[in-house]
This record gives sequence, structure tokens and C-alpha cells, in this order.
Amino acid sequence: MSTPDCLFCRIVAGEIPATVVRETPTTLAFRDIGPKAPVHVLVIPKEHYADVATLAQDDPGLAGEVLAAAAAVAEDEGLLGDGFRLMFNTGAYGGQEVFHVHAHLLGGAPLGPMLA
Ligand code: 5GP
Ligand code: ZN
Repeated sequence: MSTPDCLFCRIVAGEIPATVVRETPTTLAFRDIGPKAPVHVLVIPKEHYADVATLAQDDPGLAGEVLAAAAAVAEDEGLLGDGFRLMFNTGAYGGQEVFHVHAHLLGGAPLGPMLA
């Protein structure tokens, strides 16, 4: 179900523009507005779930579709050889700011250790 005051639901609805790099019937991938790496794509389910824990518990099949979409974008962006990072910020301690679950796909340069 769409949540009208959710930023990413509004991107799914076409109410806010985004640079879409991949779309499936259930997922959308678009470039982050403030990229933290040469490639920084957000991959989301079109259906609204607040975070990855909720998504994985309530619809594990859809969670798998988000991962498959992220892998396809990684391949399209030429990241499979050198590698990439895929992460879900979750909740307050995880630094999540937009509460529509999204995978960050980061790559195109060495990213260094995660917790440096
Ligand atoms: P979080 O901290 O919730 O894991 O990440 C939210 C991400 O959404 C941030 O990296 C931020 O740059 C990105 N973002 C916020 N607003 C927009 C927007 O309107 N369009 C796009 N494409 N990305 C956005
Ligand atoms: Zn939403």
C-alpha cells in the first residue's frame, strides 16, 4: 500500500522526479540525490515497508526481489568485477532517514572498511 506522505512512495507514484536505472513490476532503482560513491543507487520495493526487518518478516519473497534487482543494477553498472557494497540503514541507530526500506548500492571506487 502507498503511503502518501512518504518520499519514496511519491517517487514510485511519479510525483517526485528521480533518475530511474531499473524498474520491475515490484521494485524501483534510482540514483541517490547525494551520492557517496561514483555509483550510488537506491533499490526499493514499490510497496511501502518501513525497513528491511519489516520487509523480510512480512514478505521475504519481495525482499529477495529487491536483492535480485540490486544485483542486476550492479551488473548493469559494471560493478561485479571490482565489487560493491549493499546496505540497509535501519532505524535510529542505523542512521535511517527515509522510512521506506531501501538498499544502498555503492561502488565504482574502493570504499574502504565499513567501520573505519
Ligand atoms: P538513509 O539514511 O535513510 O539510509 O538514506 C536515505 C537516502 O535517500 C540518502 O542517501 C539521501 O541522499 C537519499 N535521498 C533523500 N531524498 C532523496 C530524493 O528526493 N531523491 C533521491 N533520489 N534520493 C534522496
Ligand atoms: Zn513509502
